[in-house]
Amino acid sequence: MSKKDKHHRGISSYFGEMVFGPEAQSGYLSKSAIQEIHKAVNDGHAIDRSKADEVANGMKEWALEHGATHYTHWFQPLRGTTAEKHDSFFEPTGIDTGIEVFSGKALAQQEPDASSFPSGGIRNTFEARGYTAWDPSSPAFLLEKGGVRTLCIPTIFVSYTGEALDYKAPLLKTLAVVRKAATEVCKYFDEKVSDCSVSLGVEQEYFLVREDLYHQRPDLMYAGRTLIGHAPAKGQQMEDHYFGAIPTKVQAFMSDFEQKAHRLGIPLRTRHNEVAPGQFECAPQFESLNLAVDHNTLLMDIMEACASDHGFRVLLHEKPYKGINGSGKHNNWSLVTNTGVNLLSPGSSPQENLQFLTFFINVIKAVYDHADLLRASIATAANDHRLGANEAPPAIMSVFIGDTLQHVLEDFENQTSTGKKGSKTSINIPNIPEILLDNTDRNRTSPFAFTGNKFEFRAVGSSDNCASPMVVLNTIVANQLMQFKTKVDALIAKGKDKETALREVLRKDLTSCKKVIFGGNGYSDEWVVEAKKRGLKNIRHSAEALAAYMSKASVELFTNLGIFSHKELEARTEIRYESFCLTIELESKVLTEMIQNMVIPSAIRYQSRIADNVSKLLNIGLTKDQVSAQIDLLTQLSSLINSAQVLNNKLSAEVDKAMEKEHAKDRALALNSKVKPLFEEIRAVSDEIERLCDDSDWALPKYRELITLN
Ligand code: ADP
Ligand code: MG
Repeated sequence: MSKKDKHHRGISSYFGEMVFGPEAQSGYLSKSAIQEIHKAVNDGHAIDRSKADEVANGMKEWALEHGATHYTHWFQPLRGTTAEKHDSFFEPTGIDTGIEVFSGKALAQQEPDASSFPSGGIRNTFEARGYTAWDPSSPAFLLEKGGVRTLCIPTIFVSYTGEALDYKAPLLKTLAVVRKAATEVCKYFDEKVSDCSVSLGVEQEYFLVREDLYHQRPDLMYAGRTLIGHAPAKGQQMEDHYFGAIPTKVQAFMSDFEQKAHRLGIPLRTRHNEVAPGQFECAPQFESLNLAVDHNTLLMDIMEACASDHGFRVLLHEKPYKGINGSGKHNNWSLVTNTGVNLLSPGSSPQENLQFLTFFINVIKAVYDHADLLRASIATAANDHRLGANEAPPAIMSVFIGDTLQHVLEDFENQTSTGKKGSKTSINIPNIPEILLDNTDRNRTSPFAFTGNKFEFRAVGSSDNCASPMVVLNTIVANQLMQFKTKVDALIAKGKDKETALREVLRKDLTSCKKVIFGGNGYSDEWVVEAKKRGLKNIRHSAEALAAYMSKASVELFTNLGIFSHKELEARTEIRYESFCLTIELESKVLTEMIQNMVIPSAIRYQSRIADNVSKLLNIGLTKDQVSAQIDLLTQLSSLINSAQVLNNKLSAEVDKAMEKEHAKDRALALNSKVKPLFEEIRAVSDEIERLCDDSDWALPKYRELITLN
């Protein structure tokens, strides 16, 4: 490989070596084939059949040379992270002869037996065939597992009847739509702009736990989070973990997965401790959105796969521990023109600033108009433990923009004079200080924050596929930009000059949506009251939030822009309700088992030892008064054991009752309102038993052990 010569040291000497990107392609493909790929990536048109054969052949040669024997279409079904089905290049030609082949057809399309992937009812079993189709905008790569390398080809996954069954297919559609809408609006400012792209940088938070302890906690193993566990004496109160020194073993793990990621072209750049003990974060350099989503999905797989080598397990769950900060995935999003201008970067001239304000205000308005949908896009059973649970960020969708921009918007809105027609200097928008880039207030409590030159959607769950929230964000922004353009054009058609028209529409839009802007403490009770006054919704439960997908406004939005058909939207919503139910059902099973087989027996063991002790002491002549402490403990334990048993039975009964309901939505709502509260009640009882129990009788690793890594 050409770049891996002596001039490259450090990460750049191996970055991307497992990727069939432009550099590798140049060694295996003709110029015209590379051009064809380039066109497919940039203009989205299908690759010519004969060129597809050449690309496939080049890819195969490259893969073989790097030790792969098999290839797979790699896709992101609607549950789990990624899916693969491996096929070999090998084709026997005789009894003891064979060749390696890979055709353009096999590259372009495959039919995995996909009947077990969730389809929300779209694919009945008789038409179980779904097919995967190559996405040339995300390069093929070699994934290594157990020393075996496989060529992975990123694909979309659709049903035989054409409905999307994965995360990527709709994401690509939204990208096309938002790129076009942004480009059209850009033309008001710069005729030379002929395309825009969307960038995404994903900050990934995660916890690490010692693997030996992990295996002793059925809740961590099966639910990804602790369902019981008494708070440790030293938890997060000290706040000494954030940006502290990274423990040695953790450092080794980070460096290992980073290297693997770098070989795969994932541009990881930062690593640090997070707020909670045992919690960490990594972040790549931002990339084109589709690639960033693929990379984040791949990264989660890599992290999980290599943690064991270091004696750890990665917990990507949004809330592994009660009372300790949860994990999110900050989605840093921006729009960039093909002339290299970040549309969310405030400029140094009034003209540039009008362009900035246009995109800035349009995004805010989109968030305001479709806050419910944005909330729904991050709704999962796991994320409920963060959103609306007195923790970052709240379930109220608001936008943080910082003081400087708040003043800029106020000035912009209140200034009524539009100045002299046609004169650029009449725009009179104060220059937005360049310093803004560095001084963006870091309001960590906001779910959607402007941070200098990008918006950051922070309410996304740490284990989620970013595609769902990005599908919604792209769609609502595209829709808003299109409506904006229609209104501006109408004013221009009535004879207004361009700047006046732009300013007039922007001002009106701003007035209508400014309620969503909030710079205060998002965790406070005052904000809950204030938000209510402003008419902003606070949908605390995901089971309730999901309904927004099927609201009249959402259905219209998605169908008008051609992102989802009504049927697809219904299916997706169904799958999300189902996922919610599966999670709660699984958690309740694990919890019931733990209470029955671990917690109650622990309490009884301890209780017997105390009873034994009491009877021995009484035997040798001590009075009841003298053993009253023990007797007290016995009584407390007895009543806790009774409560645990009663609640456990109640939990099983409530789950059964909820699961009898016919529709997934009703099951989800019942699990949410009847079952989830019982989790808390049982936990309180169990945690009290843990508090009282002798450590040697307690069957589970405790929080203080779980969160300590060195
Ligand atoms: P933090 O928000 O914790 O300070 P960083 O400043 O390190 O984090 O950046 C967070 C992420 O935002 C990184 O992935 C970075 O590449 C990304 N980012 C920076 N600028 C942009 C942009 N214009 N568009 C999208 N993502 C961006
Ligand atoms: Mg951030």
